[in-house]
Order: sequence, then structure tokens, then C-alpha cells
Amino acid sequence: MFELLKRLSEASGPSSSEDNIRNLVYEELKEHADKIEKDRLGNLIFIKEGKTPKVMLAAHMDEIGLMVKFIDEKGFVRFVKVGGFFDPSLLNQRVLIHGEKDVYGVIGSKPPHLLKEEERKKEIKSEDMFVDVGALDREDCKKLGIKHGDPITLEREMVKLANNLVTGKALDDRVGCAILIETFKGLETDNSVYAVFTVQEEIGLRGATVSSFKINPDVGIAIDVTSAGDYPGIKDHESPIHIGKGPAIKIADGRRESLGGGLISHPLVRQLLVETAEIEDIPHQVEVLEGGTTDATAIHLSREGVPSGVLSIPTRYIHSAVEVLSLDDVENTVKLLKASLKNK
Ligand code: ZN
Repeated sequence: MFELLKRLSEASGPSSSEDNIRNLVYEELKEHADKIEKDRLGNLIFIKEGKTPKVMLAAHMDEIGLMVKFIDEKGFVRFVKVGGFFDPSLLNQRVLIHGEKDVYGVIGSKPPHLLKEEERKKEIKSEDMFVDVGALDREDCKKLGIKHGDPITLEREMVKLANNLVTGKALDDRVGCAILIETFKGLETDNSVYAVFTVQEEIGLRGATVSSFKINPDVGIAIDVTSAGDYPGIKDHESPIHIGKGPAIKIADGRRESLGGGLISHPLVRQLLVETAEIEDIPHQVEVLEGGTTDATAIHLSREGVPSGVLSIPTRYIHSAVEVLSLDDVENTVKLLKASLKNK
């Protein structure tokens, strides 16, 4: 699992440029499906044929990234965010600009010692940052094959921490992709299963929206990360989720203060996941998440409605280059997903 997740995490695949991830997933699963489809937006769908209810599993291939907006006279690259970055987490990161070829750069801003007293107190915004590729001027930058619209991703190796934890970029949601790959390889069910590796989740659940319409499933389950609350600065009532204590079974998620724009898991899907975890003695937690959502939100609103739920992998520092999660949780999520499909 470490090796698979490392390959997925270190590959680049920002929203709408998921080719590298699609290729990795395809190579892993091409021998394991009855049928493989790719739709017009780029979702990759592995089908195991069987009886109803038809189950759709979804994990998103895309990671949050940036896009080249403007190259200034001095050759510095201005960018827009593609997905929900917390601006301070971008500062002084190493990035790759995916132009004609991949070009290394670093994100800079006005240095602290030149900031005025009032400026220092304020958070540095992404619009005041730029990518420095070492170019002499605009022409020199263009000679490197960089142009408007090129995707940019963070560059970071995935490594192990203590206690079977790992850290890297894009674990949101390459960990979901890895879990879906392992689950699909070891399926033990008579049901028809559609494993969907979705595109453009980070900018509005776009891949899941069109793929769930096409598949028209009877049940939907997304696999994605959720915010762990087990580190300094977070109180238990804000997030009681701990890494290493098993997958979090989603009860509800959505916007802060209203849970608008999210999902309230279907009671039968939630019950299936909780009961299976109890029967199989798999550690698990339950989750009510404010301030985020997953592909399951798009799936459950497809056509006439699809009973849906989510298995979440507790993760620290989500949407940064140093996301942290536990490989124990990953193994337990695979176990729970496999057993739930079998129990149905
Ligand atoms: Zn995600």
C-alpha cells in the first residue's frame, strides 16, 4: 500500500489535467474489470458486472493546484488557485509548472524584512505571491515552454512518519484512489460494482455529477479524506476525529453553520457501514463535518436521488503539501469497504 500510495501522491494531476493519475489507475486495474469506460470529462470507470443493487464507488483523481494567469516582464509567473488552498500554505513551496515540459519553480512573495509594520500583521494573500522559475524576463520564461493556462502543482515526496503514518501532497484524494484500487482487485460480491475515478472534484464535484448520471446507480459510496481534530489548536467538539482510530463513517457534511451544499448520508447506507464494521470488528468512527463535502453529494442528487454515504480517511493538514494520515486507517477502510459490499 505504501508504494502504491506514494506513486499516486507524487504524480501530478490537478483538476482537468488528471492524465498521469488516470494512466496509473488504468495500469493497476486493467486486468481486473469486466469492462472499462472513459467518459467525455475524463472519468475512468471500472465495471464488475453482476446483479442489483448496482453500486457506484467514487474517489477523485484530481488534486488542488494552481494555473498560470500572467507572466510579468521580469519573468515571474502570476497564478490563480484551482481548488481550496489556504493561502499561507502556499508560501515558499516548491512547484512544478506543467507546460511543454515540467519546469521547477518556487513560490515567493515580498520578504518579511521589507514589509511595513502593518503589512507584517496581515496574512500574505496568494495574489501577492508568484512563481519564480529562474527566468531572466518574460521572453526567457516563455522559452521554457510556459504559457497562460498551464497547470501548476506542488512538488513533494511522500515519506513515512512514526507509527505507520505517512505525509505527502495530494493524499486528498489519492488515498481514496489507492483504497478503491485495492478494494476492486479483491471484490467478493455478486453485485454489479462501478469503481469510478472521478475528475474535477476539487472545483465542484464535476466528474461525479456526470458519471453518476451515466451509471444511474442504486447506491453510491465516496471514499475521501476528512479533517482529523487530534492536533494542537483544535478542540474535541470542533472535530473529534482521530487518525489511527479507523475510517470515519459519514453522517453529514456541508458548509459551516448550515450544512448546506453537502450530504446527509442515507440511513440505510450508514447502517450498512456501521453494522459491517461492528460485525467484522473493524475500528471506525462516525463523522459530522462542517466546511467540506465529497463526490457523494453529487451522486445522491443524481436523477431521482441515489442513497449515498462516505467512508473518510482521517487526515491532518488537508489541502497542504504535508497532509498526514495513517496507513492503518487505509487498510481498515479497504477491509470495511470489501466487507460491506459482501454483506449487502
Ligand atoms: Zn477530496
